[in-house]
Amino acid sequence: MFAIDKDVCTACGECKDCCPCDAITEHEEGYCSIDPDLCADCGACLDVCEFNAIFEYDESAEIPHINQ
Ligand code: SF4
Ligand code: SF4
Repeated sequence: MFAIDKDVCTACGECKDCCPCDAITEHEEGYCSIDPDLCADCGACLDVCEFNAIFEYDESAEIPHINQ
């Protein structure tokens, strides 16, 4: 699974534009988040984020609060 660190994200929108599943939402507060129910784990967003705000995590572990 993939998630976005909202403290690092600049809301540039590059990941949202590349997501084939429309799983990424841009928030007015200035960050994006990934809906784990829509994400297909393709990893495309991880590759386009030049700020390294996106990270992969083990879905069997507890979902990080920053993914909410
Ligand atoms: S590409 Fe990175 S910095 Fe840009 S909106 Fe996505 S997570 Fe945020
Ligand atoms: S891993 Fe793929 S499907 Fe999931 S949010 Fe990123 S680009 Fe979208």
